[in-house]
Amino acid sequence: MSKIVSEVVAANQSYVQGFGKKGELALPPARGFAILTCMDARLDPAKYAGLAEGDAHVIRNAGGRATDDAIRSLIISHKLLGTKEWFVIHHTNCGMELFSDEIIADLLEDDLSTAAFDGKKWANPHHHGGHAVGHFIKWHTIKDQQGSVVHDVKRIRAHPLVPRDVPVYGYIYDVKTGRLNEVKAATEAGKAAAAAA
Ligand SMILES: [Zn+2]
Repeated sequence: MSKIVSEVVAANQSYVQGFGKKGELALPPARGFAILTCMDARLDPAKYAGLAEGDAHVIRNAGGRATDDAIRSLIISHKLLGTKEWFVIHHTNCGMELFSDEIIADLLEDDLSTAAFDGKKWANPHHHGGHAVGHFIKWHTIKDQQGSVVHDVKRIRAHPLVPRDVPVYGYIYDVKTGRLNEVKAATEAGKAAAAAA
């Protein structure tokens, strides 16, 4: 067993000790909301948004982008599991700002092992050959933090399977302070339509 696997298994054993009544939680999120956010290891949505097990849906990917798959999860979250408000939360110093589609595709075409970043550019330590298929993938990189939150909220808002009465809020989490700062233009774009009379 790798060191990491044994650490995870040990941590889980102690989690199980304190699991208590959590086995009785209902499947639908008790607090009725969902968060789409970045996978960045510095972000812990349970902590930054005060979630306990059973409270909310958290959908994570690189950048917290509103990809087709993230939207699939949000639609299920509302349609089948009853969430009524959604957050899109990107963050400062996101790794998705550090490369472009062309850069990652070129790196992958050259070699698949982990590349190094010197603060300015990425370079492969090895050149054993990779694959060119990366040139055909949209990587959803970020050029402008505020802009990307607005784009993602707008994309969710405009989706034909997202009901008008679900508000979508836009925020940027500051990795230096832990604070969530609202992106007003995003929240504005994500406003719910007035409830039907
Ligand atoms: Zn990120």
